[in-house]
Amino acid sequence: MSQIERIAVVFAAARSGIAAAANSAELEQVRVAVFGKKGSLSTLLRQMGALPKEQRAEIGRSMNTARDELEAAFEARAAALKHAELEASLATGAVDVTLPGRSFTLGSQHLISRLTAEIVEVFRGIGYSVVEGTEIDTAYYNFTALNTPADHPSRSLQDTFFVHDRFGEAGANAAVEKTVALKGESDVVLRTQTSGVQVHVMERQRPPIYILAPGRVYRRDVADPTHLPQFTQIEGLVVDKGITFGDLKGTLEYFCEQVFGADRKTRFRPHFFPFTEPSAEVDVSCGICGGAGCRSCGGTGWLEILGCGMVDPNVYGFVGIDPEVYSGFAFGLGVERIACLKYNVPDLRLLLEGDMRFLRQF
Ligand SMILES: [Zn+2]
Repeated sequence: MSQIERIAVVFAAARSGIAAAANSAELEQVRVAVFGKKGSLSTLLRQMGALPKEQRAEIGRSMNTARDELEAAFEARAAALKHAELEASLATGAVDVTLPGRSFTLGSQHLISRLTAEIVEVFRGIGYSVVEGTEIDTAYYNFTALNTPADHPSRSLQDTFFVHDRFGEAGANAAVEKTVALKGESDVVLRTQTSGVQVHVMERQRPPIYILAPGRVYRRDVADPTHLPQFTQIEGLVVDKGITFGDLKGTLEYFCEQVFGADRKTRFRPHFFPFTEPSAEVDVSCGICGGAGCRSCGGTGWLEILGCGMVDPNVYGFVGIDPEVYSGFAFGLGVERIACLKYNVPDLRLLLEGDMRFLRQF
């Protein structure tokens, strides 16, 4: 085979190799085999030196032309394969718009938050403003200024969470000093009631006062179906000229009607609270038996829902309001208790556990 024939064979093989490459990887193999350092074309070029002088120029020119054509064919094939592969990958990786979307769960207000807002709205509607106090307060505001003296049982370590003074004196007598200190007015407690907000408000605001104080309170109770160590209280306070027990009754009857419905009856029973005199507990007629008596209401036909009373004149003494000029009433209710009565929740602990299967029912 002459050199010229050999050149023709190599170029023909290279052209068919490029045309036959089915994908970029195969084309790359062809590139190495033809244009690579040890490829067929490079080998031919190296053999040029062996040609007779008179043929070298002519063969060289035709080889250059053929090589340019080959390179052009290679580039064209590479572009075509790349385009085809892109199309293919778009086709297989495409999003199927007919598939169902991924859903995500929307949260909602907790039953207690919702009921708190609902009760607040009832009182806003009759002119009350909302005041929020702090969950940590001193014993003075939580007890003393509410006419609850230092020896009252609710002030014992068994009933109240005391926030111990971490910055206090350390030493051999620290425990003894702490016991003594716990009887002081500056002891810091987790509030056991929202009533302390009343005192804070009356200290900085003169009557007329119409406020509602919702918030969390804490008591040293072990959680069981009817007790929680943490619950939500809503306290109301009215101080104005000429406020009577009739105003208290009318206000709370209106509230019960709004929350429980017009068909439920209310009754007031005498009771004792340190900061109100006279005091009463309010019952609402049982929604299950309609007042006839059933297991839910213990056969009485009534369910206790809140405590209330006329503000004790002694309380005014702590805040410098003249009881000869002003009078008022206060009431406090537990939102968890109202929730249980309204929705027949059998166990208070369900309200703290965050079980979505329970919470989604409301
Ligand atoms: Zn009943």
